[in-house]
Amino acid sequence: MIETKPDISLSKYAEQLRNGIVIAFPTETVYGLGADAWNADAVARIFELKGRPPDNPLIVHVNSAEMAGTLAVEISDDAKRLMECFWPGPLAIILPKRPEVLDIVTAGLPTVAIRMPDHPIPLRLIEEAGRPIAAPSANTSGRPSPTRAEHVRQDFGLDVPIIEGGSCQYGLESTVLDLSERPYTVLRPGHVTQSDIEEALLQPVRMTDMPGTSGTGAGPREATSPPRSPGMKYTHYAPDARVRWMRHDELPVPLQPAKNTLYLLHQVRNGNGPSNPACKIIRYDGIYEEMARDLYDRFRMADLQGFEEVAIEPFSTYPESAEALLNRIRKAIGD
Ligand code: AMP
Ligand code: MG
Repeated sequence: MIETKPDISLSKYAEQLRNGIVIAFPTETVYGLGADAWNADAVARIFELKGRPPDNPLIVHVNSAEMAGTLAVEISDDAKRLMECFWPGPLAIILPKRPEVLDIVTAGLPTVAIRMPDHPIPLRLIEEAGRPIAAPSANTSGRPSPTRAEHVRQDFGLDVPIIEGGSCQYGLESTVLDLSERPYTVLRPGHVTQSDIEEALLQPVRMTDMPGTSGTGAGPREATSPPRSPGMKYTHYAPDARVRWMRHDELPVPLQPAKNTLYLLHQVRNGNGPSNPACKIIRYDGIYEEMARDLYDRFRMADLQGFEEVAIEPFSTYPESAEALLNRIRKAIGD
C-alpha cells in the first residue's frame, strides 16, 4: 500500500467531487476516473470523457461495508464474508441494487458492482466527500488502463484533475465477482483468484466463459451463455502496436527461456528479433507479479516509441495468480 504524504490535502479534491467534477486518482489496481455516484451529470461526464459505451456499467467505490449497504438491496452473508476477507482490496462484488442507484451507473442493469479499494487516497476521498465514487479506469475507451499518473495525462491532458500517487501496486484491474445469481461467477479475473473466493465461501464458484479467461492458454473457448459482464465484450487493454505471442526462435541463444524468466519484446514489424537494432527486450525475474505491474506501461511505451509489435513469451504452466495477467494479454492479442 502506498502511503500518502501527510501534507497532501485531499479536501480540495473532495470538494470538487461534491461539486460534480470528475477527477482521477490512484488505487492499488489502476488509476480511476471518479465522480460522485449520486450525481447523474457527473457520471455522464465520465462516459463522455472516456468515450465509454453507455451499456458498460461502472464500479462504485466505497470506504466501508456500511456504505455498500446504501447501494445494495441486501448484503448477503456470503457478501459479508468476502468483504471481511478481501476488503479493502481488488475484489468488486455485484449485488442487486437499490432503486436509488442511478441507471447511468449500472447501465440500466438491476445490479451494482461495489468495491472498497486498498489505497489511502480513494479511501480518504470517499470519507471527505461523504459519498461513494463511481469510477472506471482512467483511460480513454479501448486504451490500456493507466498505472501511473502520466498515463492518465496521456489520455486526458489537462481536462481532468489528477491526484498523483506513484505506480499502482498490482497494475491490473480488480476481480469482478457476480453474487447476484447462482452459480456465483467470476466475470473478470484479478488479483483475488477463483480459489481465494472458493476458500472463503466454502463453495465452488465458476469462471465466466468469455474468451481470454480460460486457464489453458491453448486458444479461445466459446462462450456458452450471453455475457453477464457487458464490459468484457469490448476490446480492452490493447496498444496500437500489435500484441502477439513470441515465437520460440525469436530469442537469441544467450537469452534462451529459462525457469523463472519471462520475456517481452518490442519490435518494428518484420524486424529480425533481438539482432534488429529497432528492438528492445525486457526480462522479468520474479515474473508474473512484476510483469502484471508493468504490462500496461510497456504497451503504452511501445506506442510512444513507435514500435509496431509487442511479442510476449508464452507461458504454459503458471500459478493461478497469473490468470489475470494471461487474461489481459489474451485480450490484447485478441485471442
Ligand atoms: P472498469 O471499471 O473499466 O475496470 O470496468 C468495470 C467492469 O465491471 C466492466 O467489465 C463492467 O462490465 C463490469 N461491471 C460493472 N458493473 C457491473 C454489473 N452490474 N454487472 C456486470 N458487470 C459489471
Ligand atoms: Mg476499464
